[in-house]
Amino acid sequence: MFRMGIDLGGTKMEGVVLDGPKELFRKRVHTEQEGGYRHILNRVGALCGELAARIDHRPHTLGIGTPGAISPRTGLMKNSNTVCLNGQPLKADLEALLRRSIEVRNDANCFALAEALHGAGAGKAMVFGVILGTGCGGGIIHHGRLIVGRQAIAGEWGHMSMDPEGPSCYCGRRGCVETYISGAGAEARYAEMFGYRKTFNPDIS
Ligand SMILES: [Zn+2]
Repeated sequence: MFRMGIDLGGTKMEGVVLDGPKELFRKRVHTEQEGGYRHILNRVGALCGELAARIDHRPHTLGIGTPGAISPRTGLMKNSNTVCLNGQPLKADLEALLRRSIEVRNDANCFALAEALHGAGAGKAMVFGVILGTGCGGGIIHHGRLIVGRQAIAGEWGHMSMDPEGPSCYCGRRGCVETYISGAGAEARYAEMFGYRKTFNPDIS
């Protein structure tokens, strides 16, 4: 069974196809979140179709990791820094579009679990994994088990305020962790320190 995974970020999305532990294909494209929710759905659908075509549409699992969480109560996305996804039934809409079942999980939880089981945290009782991307996510693993929490936001520390007088955040508060530890945050702090902006451009093919 092939495994297909999509990392759906705020700036870019990247898909990979695995045959066991072996990587077969990888493709990275812009998310183009300015195009809105339907546009992002279609871009994910197109990327999945392109990857599936590379394995002649043979059976495969499909998992999507993305910032934010699906509310256990409503099934709607929440807490995504791709704000047009919030309040939307992302999983149900993608399943309808792709006509298959998929898994949608928080990207930092996916990362933290992978590191806890197979990477830097292997064998450790407690692992806290942090993603620096468009935003700043986190995931907590205890003895190899992901802690999700009742609201599905365990480990999400991006909007904890470190400084009430700090930079204003899109969430309405000031000095959030994410205003320092994120791509945009690092750019803004760099500009403050050196007087000019330096943009990090991820390699997108
Ligand atoms: Zn915030």
